Amino acid sequence: MKVKDILLGAHTSISGGLYKAIEEGEQIGCTAIQIFTKSSRSWFTSKLTLKEIEKFKETQKKSNIKIIVAHTSYLINLGSPNKDTEKKSINSLQQELTRCELLNIPYLVLHPGAHLKSGEELCLKKIAENLDLILKESTGKTMILLENTAGQGTNIGYKFEHLKQIRDMAKEKNKLGVCLDTCHVFSSGYDISSPEGYEKVITEFKKIIGLKNLKVIHLNDSKTELNSKKDRHENIGKGKIPLKIFNLIMNDKRLFKIPKILETPVNNFLEYKPELDLLKSMVK
Ligand code: MN
Ligand code: MN
Ligand code: ZN
Repeated sequence: MKVKDILLGAHTSISGGLYKAIEEGEQIGCTAIQIFTKSSRSWFTSKLTLKEIEKFKETQKKSNIKIIVAHTSYLINLGSPNKDTEKKSINSLQQELTRCELLNIPYLVLHPGAHLKSGEELCLKKIAENLDLILKESTGKTMILLENTAGQGTNIGYKFEHLKQIRDMAKEKNKLGVCLDTCHVFSSGYDISSPEGYEKVITEFKKIIGLKNLKVIHLNDSKTELNSKKDRHENIGKGKIPLKIFNLIMNDKRLFKIPKILETPVNNFLEYKPELDLLKSMVK
């Protein structure tokens, strides 16, 4: 495997303009990045201008960033029992999907949702139905990726079966993929602390979801222990997931073509650089 062919990067910032995230990624040697296409703390935003779209595409063309992934706002909950929140979530996700299509972003990562004590089964069903509503109207250039979660609070998506169930219930399956977050895998109780454990978890994922549906990997270490059901990211090598597991991931031929994105805690994007360099140095 060649280091230069690896799709590796980090979540970078769009403050000052969408294209700025590409420039940040370029500065620290990314070949892939993840962005919010709008503020992650607001429901809606104004329409993209032609100028913004052109600048974004031009900046990517001149860069080494081969793939750009988007992440949705944290407010969206397609499985909410609150009608108003559900409606707002649908409209907000619709707007985010349109933005991705305009920016030629192939993947939009979404947290499946939280049932807020209304029950998991109902929540899963609502999510599948609402995804269909949104996806049947879309051009299909952008896939929505369901991210596995740590299982904090009433969040669903902490089991591979949840992600499978949503995809199985949805009609627009071909526009629905999966994003796997290593911190969430571990904190939701999948023991990837040994090479044997790692292989077991990959095998289980293959069996339940299938590797062809895995489109993005979030590389994060975990501040909290196995099965803690907490979502606390840590820098690679500083948390509870052994460094040798990240080494296995970086050298796993089955995962070679899948973009790998850091969402680790940094004060400044330049702090991703040593982590990226460490991961690159592992590639044999
Ligand atoms: Mn996420
Ligand atoms: Mn993540
Ligand atoms: Zn997380």
